[in-house]
Amino acid sequence: MRHIGTRFPVIANGFSGKRILLAGGLLAATAGGIAAYRFFNNAQPDTTVSRLKFTPISLESSEKLTHDVKRLRFKLDDDKRLGFNVSSAVLFRVRQADGKTEWRPYTPVSARNQQGWFEIVVKRYDKGLVSPVMHALKPGDTVEVWGPLPFLDYSPDSFRDVGLIAGGSGITPCLQLTRHILENPDDHTKVTLLFANKTADDIILKNELDGLAAKHPDKFAVHYILNSAPDKWQGLAGNVDRAVVEKVMPPASASTFIGVCGPPAMVAAVSGDRPGPVAQGKIGGVLKELGYTNVFKF
Ligand SMILES: Cc1cc2nc3c(=O)[nH]c(=O)nc-3n(C[C@H](O)[C@H](O)[C@H](O)COP(=O)(O)OP(=O)(O)OC[C@H]3O[C@@H](n4cnc5c(N)ncnc54)[C@H](O)[C@@H]3O)c2cc1C
Repeated sequence: MRHIGTRFPVIANGFSGKRILLAGGLLAATAGGIAAYRFFNNAQPDTTVSRLKFTPISLESSEKLTHDVKRLRFKLDDDKRLGFNVSSAVLFRVRQADGKTEWRPYTPVSARNQQGWFEIVVKRYDKGLVSPVMHALKPGDTVEVWGPLPFLDYSPDSFRDVGLIAGGSGITPCLQLTRHILENPDDHTKVTLLFANKTADDIILKNELDGLAAKHPDKFAVHYILNSAPDKWQGLAGNVDRAVVEKVMPPASASTFIGVCGPPAMVAAVSGDRPGPVAQGKIGGVLKELGYTNVFKF
């Protein structure tokens, strides 16, 4: 997990000798055990998701957002919330037609403290093992959740500006972080979102994004860019290139953070290759050219 805005002290000492090594080893093992226990036993009394077990939850409703994207709302007890830190995903385990189970991470897009329900947005891959099952769920059907799986530890006011560059369903972690910043009156960070899609019909969650921009004009601005823009399109058109980033993103500085999430080709062109799902890789692409140093690939 990458921390932004949290600094840990580095403690150095000059002691040596076998006993000290042994005592140090025992202490480290105990501390490691406590840390592991705390990590797995993360559930709070009012939360639903836990890292000790998969917990069954049922679908309350599903809504088709585009030809291949659905918003799924899951029901919780009225006094319970899902329970996750920003930014996190949650693992969803489903049963295949052949009885085998498979899990995949999805990113909650509802507010972190929302009680009684939570929402995710899922893009369907026709040949996928899990996303078609998620799309076929009917109200009352059950899936299992585990987590949360944290990937960025966000602290308020860590940066003056947060710029987010999202492509397609890569909007989900960007919306989670945006909502979290905007809904905290003590967080003065300004958020700028650049949201790239193929066509106007592919833009998901536009109402939510426009609603947040209207409600928080001093803290949040959203820009849409389309590969194939219709005639009367008022937004940006083309690919997310250097000129677009220079035009809408906060300029590179020590107090600017940029988060990127989208199809691998877009992430590589904008921020450099990602060697794997967990590894960040070096900053590259447009963001490197423009001198950004605080970059996170969701
Ligand atoms: C931390 C994290 C958070 C995520 N959050 C979300 C989210 O909020 N919403 C969401 O829709 N997805 C999200 N994903 C992706 C999700 O976890 C699955 O990978 C995705 O739904 C595909 O799973 P599947 O089982 O249907 O396909 P799989 O069985 O894994 O893949 C089968 C085939 O589908 C195609 N495919 C699968 N994934 C992709 C892809 N990303 N790009 C292009 N082709 C692909 C490929 O052709 C692949 O061979 C997230 C992933 C991570 C790592």
